[in-house]
Amino acid sequence: MKSKVLLVDDLKIIHQLLRIRLADEPMEWHSAFDGHEALEKAERLGVDLILLDVNLPDMDGFEVCRRLKSNPATGSVPIIFLSGESAGDEKVKGFSLGAVDYVVKPFDAAELLARVRVALRTRELMEMLAKRALIDGLTGLHNRAYLDERLAAETAHALRFSSRFSCIMSDLDKFKQLNDTHGHSFGDQVLRGVARVFSESCRTEDVVARYGGEEFAILTPNVAADGAMVLAERLRQRMAAEIFRIEDQPIRISCSFGVAELDPSNPQMLLECADQALYRAKRQGGNCVIPFDNMTQSITGSALV
Ligand code: GH3
Ligand code: MG
Ligand code: MG
Repeated sequence: MKSKVLLVDDLKIIHQLLRIRLADEPMEWHSAFDGHEALEKAERLGVDLILLDVNLPDMDGFEVCRRLKSNPATGSVPIIFLSGESAGDEKVKGFSLGAVDYVVKPFDAAELLARVRVALRTRELMEMLAKRALIDGLTGLHNRAYLDERLAAETAHALRFSSRFSCIMSDLDKFKQLNDTHGHSFGDQVLRGVARVFSESCRTEDVVARYGGEEFAILTPNVAADGAMVLAERLRQRMAAEIFRIEDQPIRISCSFGVAELDPSNPQMLLECADQALYRAKRQGGNCVIPFDNMTQSITGSALV
């Protein structure tokens, strides 16, 4: 995909010059001629980089930069200042406002292009890092940090719109034994297989995450407990039917599931409720799906067997 670059300068000639010189680059160029247009376009177009002239007719580039940085929608977009002013303190001011680079006019187009490339590459890497921080390295599923974020967001959404929202917790049965018998790397292979089956069996709006070790969590927005039970049963059956192989020896595994629906009077307990149901599934011998039972659980509490 082409990177979107916004050039902000009141001189038309600069726009023409750069468009001609950088025509072959895999970039989509957009133009703004004053500060207000820059702020509006930066937010609306979702640009990847901004080249920002310091001298603009309505407000100076430093002020535009300040406003871009304080808007969450544009705060992380890298900014390269373009200025006729080469004084050191002007440059320092630019950098202290969060710019990634400062280019003095008249500039050499080839050098500017090199700086543009560096800024875009850095942004790409930053985005990759941010994404990785929310992805589980072994399975490629979302990790616990992402799950926590989405749990809070989906809970708030469900409460605000009075929509249904459920959660499934799952744990592999006798996984320690599988590791001990066939080795940790085969165990890893199985975890990746579980992640694949779970992902393929869920809707795109569901959140499938590795909660930790051999435990997985699935958030199902707009789904009530009965729907989540159907999904969990489908996952259980698919996992029971899945055949893993080690040296041509077929290995089957099973998973246990606990299911709970958001209780608006106790929203922070959703995961905990699904976990309690999972605990009961284990107590029943595993390879089964158990719904959180409000009545029984509230009478007997977490000591339930
Ligand atoms: P239960 O049926 O009661 O769930 O028993 P279990 O053996 O599955 O559960 P237990 O909690 O006793 O053991 C979990 C095992 O999961 C132990 C740990 O070595 C293994 N495990 C955790 N993370 C990983 C991992 O990333 N890779 C592999 N291969 N094993 C892991
Ligand atoms: Mg287990
Ligand atoms: Mg476990």
